[in-house]
Amino acid sequence: MIPFTYTRPDNIEDAVRAASSLGSAARFIAGGTNLVDLMKEHIEQPAHLIDVTHLPLKQIEDANDGGLILGALTTNSQVAYDERIQSRYPLLASAIRAGASAQLRNVATTGGNLLQRTRCFYFYDTAVACNKREPGSGCAAMHGKNRIHAILGASDQCIATHPSDMCVALAALQACVQVTGPQGTRSIAFADFHRLPGDQPDQDTTLRAGELITAITLPAENFAANYTYLKLRDRLSYAFALVSVAAAMHIENGLIAQARLALGGVAHRPWREPEAEHLLIGKAPDRHAFGLAADRILIQARGHGDNDFKIPLARRAIVRALEQAAAGIPQSPIDKRIN
Ligand SMILES: Cc1cc2nc3c(=O)[nH]c(=O)nc-3n(C[C@H](O)[C@H](O)[C@H](O)COP(=O)(O)OP(=O)(O)OC[C@H]3O[C@@H](n4cnc5c(N)ncnc54)[C@H](O)[C@@H]3O)c2cc1C
Repeated sequence: MIPFTYTRPDNIEDAVRAASSLGSAARFIAGGTNLVDLMKEHIEQPAHLIDVTHLPLKQIEDANDGGLILGALTTNSQVAYDERIQSRYPLLASAIRAGASAQLRNVATTGGNLLQRTRCFYFYDTAVACNKREPGSGCAAMHGKNRIHAILGASDQCIATHPSDMCVALAALQACVQVTGPQGTRSIAFADFHRLPGDQPDQDTTLRAGELITAITLPAENFAANYTYLKLRDRLSYAFALVSVAAAMHIENGLIAQARLALGGVAHRPWREPEAEHLLIGKAPDRHAFGLAADRILIQARGHGDNDFKIPLARRAIVRALEQAAAGIPQSPIDKRIN
């Protein structure tokens, strides 16, 4: 057992002040469903825990621009079953319900979900090299069992993937992350929030020291009619994605007027490729157009041996998700409406 101090502020200012005064040895803790596991496995060893569960960040509110504001402490269940999310952002509800288990979703928070760490086996095994856990030590996954690893955006230092389902939908919806830190508040576009590993794989995000996530904002554009979150995994429930696809579009007069496509389980961050989406604009929503978009998004895909299968799997998943979105069949395995 590594000793740590514990503090429980009840306002944002005190939480941020505590984080900046305690420095890099401090961690915020929300639901604890990831951080506590990491502490038990000696992967994270914070000297100070700042419990944020008493901060006033538990509301889902309407935004002035027609969107919604999700407080960082809303639970995954609260968001997935909120009537406004279900009717206006069903893609998000579907993605959240495809993740973890009911018990975990009741405790896991929106802010914590964004910052959950990779499920790379070698990150969790302190006996082997991992640049994400211990910078400069090497990457055991590169020539190890890498079935679950990245096919896009990896570096020679790290091939880990980001495990979240919720974040794949948030990427497709172009959400924004609201943060408060020692320098004040700022808003981070979702596409800029998670990093690629590069030569600093220990850095998962662009958050600065001491910054607290306060909310996620969803824009008014919601794609409630034509969407699908398709999650492919080894078991139908309680497993992380090998490949997942958030697909959404607007169809006008039989042609695609707008398209969104994001992949999970394939990269260090939710993967979006705007050029693949642009390829769909003005096209009839058919298998040919969807195949071209899939080829574009996967153009740089590269396997590492065990995970080579993910490339054709991702292509088929993209085409299928887009077909279902176009047909207005919002499939998620959890919805039990698989054709
Ligand atoms: C068995 C199991 C299966 C799972 N399956 C899935 C799955 O299929 N799909 C999926 O998407 N997820 C899955 N998860 C992950 C789960 O969704 C995350 O553990 C959860 O979302 C993390 O939220 P939390 O509130 O518990 O975070 P915590 O564990 O409290 O914190 C996680 C990280 O976020 C930081 N943090 C928390 N809140 C804030 C804040 N407001 N501002 C700044 N930093 C903050 C903490 O410092 C910590 O670094 C699974 C988890 C488990 C244990």
